[in-house]
Amino acid sequence: PIAQRRARTYMSAMLDRSHNAPELPPEIARRRTFAIISHPDAGKTTLTEKFLLYGGAIQMAGQVRAKGEARRTRSDFMQMEKDRGISVSASAMSFDFDGHRFNLVDTPGHSDFSEDTYRTLTAVDAAIMVIDGAKGVESQTQKLFEVCRLRDLPILTFCNKMDRESRDTLEIIDEIQENLAIDVTPASWPIGVGRDFLGCYDVLNDRLELMDRADRNKVAESIKIEGLDDPKLADHVPAHLLEQLREELEMARELLPAFDREAFLDGTLTPIWFGSAINSFGVQELMDGIAKYGPEPQPQRATPRAISPDEKKVMGYVFKVQANMDPKHRDRVAFVRLASGHFKRGMKLTHVRTKKPMAISNPVLFLASDRELAEEAYAGDIIGIPNHGQLRIGDTLTEGEDIRVTGIPSFAPELLQGVRAGDPMKAKHLEKALMQFAEEGAAKVFKPAIGSGFIVGVVGALQFEVLASRIELEYGLPVRFDASQFTSARWVTGPKLELDKFVNANKQHISYDHDGDPVFLTRLQWDIDRIERDYPELTLSATKEMH
Ligand code: GDP
Repeated sequence: PIAQRRARTYMSAMLDRSHNAPELPPEIARRRTFAIISHPDAGKTTLTEKFLLYGGAIQMAGQVRAKGEARRTRSDFMQMEKDRGISVSASAMSFDFDGHRFNLVDTPGHSDFSEDTYRTLTAVDAAIMVIDGAKGVESQTQKLFEVCRLRDLPILTFCNKMDRESRDTLEIIDEIQENLAIDVTPASWPIGVGRDFLGCYDVLNDRLELMDRADRNKVAESIKIEGLDDPKLADHVPAHLLEQLREELEMARELLPAFDREAFLDGTLTPIWFGSAINSFGVQELMDGIAKYGPEPQPQRATPRAISPDEKKVMGYVFKVQANMDPKHRDRVAFVRLASGHFKRGMKLTHVRTKKPMAISNPVLFLASDRELAEEAYAGDIIGIPNHGQLRIGDTLTEGEDIRVTGIPSFAPELLQGVRAGDPMKAKHLEKALMQFAEEGAAKVFKPAIGSGFIVGVVGALQFEVLASRIELEYGLPVRFDASQFTSARWVTGPKLELDKFVNANKQHISYDHDGDPVFLTRLQWDIDRIERDYPELTLSATKEMH
């Protein structure tokens, strides 16, 4: 096999309850919480739409269209930001399928938002990787895949647009194995390409699935087959394609590993389905795959101990905050992944960071296009909690226990700029707006130890423009960004005496983030190396745990 089994850390081995662990209660075991990762244009929106269609959450295809973030010009993006109602309700979608509760968490589509994406992926138990059959593994797919790999997330692959000219099946599989260093096993095998694409042979269930090009919302015709020698095959597949199918599958059996659930759950083997989202083809088989093989809600890393989903007490953590969903009210919604227990509306939970109780009286569940009041939810579910800013990314909610979820980092920005209000009298307003975006995780905001003003840090350049537009839209404040002398930021931690000494000696390079933690700003990698040499007791870090 190409993918070498990676050495498992003690932590992941301990957390690994998918195989030999005792059974979860049925309500929890039936939950599947996942995200879709893909390169823009591969078909994520279309696939999402078909999921919702089969999940009975929407009546008609086309309703999710408004939220597809990919391929957008900047002005489209701004418009979408204005329509926050739409983009927000699409952040997490719940629907039922075949006795399972699916929670689909949307990953931000734009490549600029890698940090947001990373945190989103901390809230799911599996990912579906969508690739375009003609294009194979593209850059954004690769990046997102690497993020999934950091957490050994199980990956299901959907090779889309098979109704068009696509690459050779083995070649696509080979590319995934080579570029992503993961074993691939065919869950289905395409028959014919482009115009001649007939459908797929369902390898896992020995079925023939035939695509109906005439009706895009129709589920494929499915014919039970007794293996590849079944004479029924010839009734539906022309001789030359049948011969090719048998040859290719024989080759695949020799060259590729068979499906193995353990390897899949370990993240070292991905089953691949071939289909066409727009023709609703292959989608249901993929959903069956998630339902049947997909991981149940997994344990959550936390300190001082991990949280198991079957614990009686409710625990959850904030992985995303979205502010100003309604510009008329300054409310925010914190997206909480439930890590354990059975949550009921009105419950009082402890906000661990401040040790304050919070009555969760109006939580929302995200059912496709509408927000709905959540009466109850279980480990694995995502609920939205409207609040006035108390809830921040990385916060943990419990029934009183002092336990904090870990592994939700904040990354050092790669681009820094100074920011000021167009009207100098509005500096205080600007500070308020900036702090709020910092809490939302939309940008890093640093207050220099010397002088006035703020420095804003982002991961991608587009974020500056989105930020400027939101500050203007939501706070009525025109702002200006200007070049900063700094290009890198590092959080500094260490013993207090040493830290104070360092801060005093480097005042012109020190800023404080929105939590008040010191950050070293510089233009030179050389500076960072020098400090690590001169202050061996200090740690300079490009990431920070958010809590
Ligand atoms: P996203 O950017 O990944 O969300 O991709 P979309 O779902 O918006 O799809 C991008 C484009 O590909 C749209 O024009 C879709 O209509 C088209 N598309 C999606 N699925 C298929 C498919 O199975 N076959 C073909 N031919 N086109 C598709």
